[in-house]
Amino acid sequence: MAQRAGQPALPSTTDDGVPVVVRRSARRRRTVAAFWEDGNAVVAIPAHFTKAQEGEWVRRMLDKLKRQGERGAHGAGRRRPASDAALASHAAGLSSKYLGGRAKPTSVRWVNNQKSRWGSATPADGTIRLSDKLRAMPQWVIDYVLLHELAHLLVAGHNAAFWRLLEAYPETQRAKAFLEGVSFATSRGLGPDAEGADAPAEGWDADAV
Ligand SMILES: [Zn+2]
Repeated sequence: MAQRAGQPALPSTTDDGVPVVVRRSARRRRTVAAFWEDGNAVVAIPAHFTKAQEGEWVRRMLDKLKRQGERGAHGAGRRRPASDAALASHAAGLSSKYLGGRAKPTSVRWVNNQKSRWGSATPADGTIRLSDKLRAMPQWVIDYVLLHELAHLLVAGHNAAFWRLLEAYPETQRAKAFLEGVSFATSRGLGPDAEGADAPAEGWDADAV
């Protein structure tokens, strides 16, 4: 459909690069909703909305989601951290829930220069970095990587004591398998954007320690 003059194109991603999905529902009459789902920002609108209404509401709801993200994202399952500030706040929530609050990172950031790792931690200065490739993945996978790196602030290596720290998180095994699957597919060119496929064949992270 052609854009009408004067009508700006709908954003295909949020300001943070999260894909935007517009879902039209015949069952929805008047209500509009927006939420994070499997790495997407979903805006649900009634099927009868015009393109102009869709544009107006998508922009309005993305603004709302963004404000929610900035307020801190831990707890509610359908939110996901958008900014670095929200990510740090989310990390604090995970540390308190699963690590007794003992892991206290000094900074937690999204980075786009980690081609072969999902995350890294530097215990010496308490910093954690997550690859922004994770943004497209389900929240429970992102949470696993974040917890993994938080645990490295307490135990540097991958020994038994380290893995015990991750036992309380219910999705640890599932998330490890998920990431191995992503690495496998990427390294064999199975994915839709498999160029730059240098994910490690074996693990999912090589920590910068
Ligand atoms: Zn590790």
